[in-house]
Amino acid sequence: MNPTSSFLVPLRLPTPFAVGPVNVYLLEGPELTLVDVGPDTAEALAALEAGLAAHGHALTELRHIVITHAHPDHYGLAARLAALSGARIYCHPLSRRVIAAAPAELAQRYAWYGEWLRQAGLPEPIQAQLLKLFRSLEGQRGVPADRLVELNDGDRLPWGDREWQALHTPGHAQGHLCFYHRPSGALLAGDHLLRGITPNPGVEPPWPGSSERPRSLIQYFQSLERLTALNITTVWPGHGEPLYDYQAHCEELSAFHHRRADEIAALLDGESQTVYQLTRRFFPQLQRLDLFLGLSEVIAHLDLLEAAGRVSVSAADGVLRYQLTDEPHSAT
Ligand SMILES: [Zn+2]
Repeated sequence: MNPTSSFLVPLRLPTPFAVGPVNVYLLEGPELTLVDVGPDTAEALAALEAGLAAHGHALTELRHIVITHAHPDHYGLAARLAALSGARIYCHPLSRRVIAAAPAELAQRYAWYGEWLRQAGLPEPIQAQLLKLFRSLEGQRGVPADRLVELNDGDRLPWGDREWQALHTPGHAQGHLCFYHRPSGALLAGDHLLRGITPNPGVEPPWPGSSERPRSLIQYFQSLERLTALNITTVWPGHGEPLYDYQAHCEELSAFHHRRADEIAALLDGESQTVYQLTRRFFPQLQRLDLFLGLSEVIAHLDLLEAAGRVSVSAADGVLRYQLTDEPHSAT
């Protein structure tokens, strides 16, 4: 039996998303804690209730709810659970922007996405379709500010008899947190590392106080690298089965992304192209949320190529166009 399984209970909840079920983790102890909560659907709530009951608990017993990142399959039920149980909701300040769903912050967020989709060269009707989709996924049910507690990098979860340390791991999401239990080497990884799935390096607005779009794939490599210094024995991911060899998965991911950057560079064969044109060529069939994930994937690899000096970007009429540089290069 895995040494951590005596105090960490994985529960698998259904989601309406292509990724399939999401894992949430029950930490038993004097104060019942849940890490991630599943999407805001009746099916996920019923599955969570049944999963807790199977371990002798009720939703109303939850005292602490910790969110790895502000994607709807991970935090969606947080507001409902806070209301049902009185639990506090813990997340990184950059996740709080979405989880609290304060109207002014959300309006800023959508305005930024609108501008980014224009720069990426999307036709206007598809920009409008994606913005409508963002509004339906985020901010329908915000967690009241007095229930939210911010967790920053290095913070220890301040309760219970087992100490988990929060690690800020931006890349897949800007406010992404992993939680490390040093004595056992267990890592609650959210979507930082998944078995058989490459976490999407999501496009997100600049951090407060900055005007620069975060280069999410470059951040992701830094986050992966940083955690190699830990003695991780088991990675408990947000989707799918646990992983045991952190270092080997990092190396696989690095190789995958550098290969993909080469594939995208190969599409820049002639004239300059927009992110949308490249996405349509690389992933011809994608629609709606999958199209946004495809755009994120392409810009993330263009960022990598740009940082390596292999592509340059120019702006005309508010639209960004990428082209290969003349510089000789060795590798990304
Ligand atoms: Zn995610």
